[in-house]
Amino acid sequence: MNDFPIEQIRKDFPILDQLVYGKPLAYLDNGATTQKPLRMIEAVNRLHREQNASVHRSVSFLSDKITQAYEEARTTVQKFIGASKSLQIIFTSGTTGSINLVAFSFGEGILEPGDEIIISTMEHHSNIVPWQMVCERHGARLRIIPITDEGDLDLDAYQNLFSDRTRMVAVTHVSNVLGTINPVKEIVQIAHSHRVPILLDGAQGVQHEPVNVVDLDCDFYVFSGHKIYGPTGIGILYGKEEWLERLPPYQGGGDMIDRVTFEKTTYNGLPFKFEAGTTNFIGAIGLAESLNYLTGIGLDKIIRYEHELRDYATQKLSGIKQLRMYGTSAEKAAIFSFVLEGIHPFDTGMIIDKFGVAVRTGTHCTMPLMQRFGIEGTVRASLCLYNTTDEIDRLHDALNSVIDLMA
Ligand code: PLP
Repeated sequence: MNDFPIEQIRKDFPILDQLVYGKPLAYLDNGATTQKPLRMIEAVNRLHREQNASVHRSVSFLSDKITQAYEEARTTVQKFIGASKSLQIIFTSGTTGSINLVAFSFGEGILEPGDEIIISTMEHHSNIVPWQMVCERHGARLRIIPITDEGDLDLDAYQNLFSDRTRMVAVTHVSNVLGTINPVKEIVQIAHSHRVPILLDGAQGVQHEPVNVVDLDCDFYVFSGHKIYGPTGIGILYGKEEWLERLPPYQGGGDMIDRVTFEKTTYNGLPFKFEAGTTNFIGAIGLAESLNYLTGIGLDKIIRYEHELRDYATQKLSGIKQLRMYGTSAEKAAIFSFVLEGIHPFDTGMIIDKFGVAVRTGTHCTMPLMQRFGIEGTVRASLCLYNTTDEIDRLHDALNSVIDLMA
């Protein structure tokens, strides 16, 4: 893609410019966490040096300034995902924090013994375990959408899982292992045709696909700051206003209250009802800085570039005969999970690291998905906006070296 300013973009991420074991770093573990643009790093530094004060709690000049920046950050997130009101954006600690919030509150407010929650085989543990815990507490049970060998959700089976006890669907937007981009709009429509709300796990979706929550019509959309070039420890829960109003608070503490007496507490309005205690306000403002950085480049350009990387990598890796790819959906992000025949993924990862190529190995927090494919783990290369075809060539060559070494 000739008009994509890749050289400038790589300069924006200072960590990329380093040697690992004497080789230039090829960071291909972006599904785990992404690197940070200088603009965000400097903004967070500046906030700590010049603007730090408590949000929503004080009348001081600094507190007023940081509170304003925090609420502007909320509006930035709102616009980024196309939400209609900023009060629908709750700052959490990450995707995990957001799903636990919804699962807990949904359990307390809605679930009854015998109720059912639908999730899928390809979910991250973060979108399995909170629902499982809530099911155990309330006598409900999970129903699981199966997947095909290519790594697509079986939508016919999904349709058949609904019953008059189904209370919630929770499905990932993009699989962190298979790379499958799920047809989330259709999945939402099916849930709604059964009058069931749906949560979309956007941890791997929001940075690789255009997201407009109004168009998707999902009831909840969640994601993590650190996977979209923002700081760690900040995440987003988007919810439809009627659901956020209806669900009880998750945690109690400062800021989420309206009035407290020893007899009774009444709660604050949205979004503060779900933001107990001092939030990660600097993280929230840092996240907004990263989102503005992406908007500045143009999300459509980024997506087009990433699709080109995906096609290049698909073609290149298919040339390695001993490589078995997991996740071959026609709709796929630039995420590649594979095993080299007869070689443990851990060994593959360790060896290619010595060539400067950083990937992830293991179960990727998706043990049930590994069980579905009858494997113990994979090597995963996950690409993003600052990766290059040269880095894909280096991955390819390093894998061939592994094969030679282990032969
Ligand atoms: N969901 C998916 C699809 C993920 O890939 C991840 C992280 O890898 C998570 C949830 C959990 O994200 P976090 O650890 O940032 O809360």
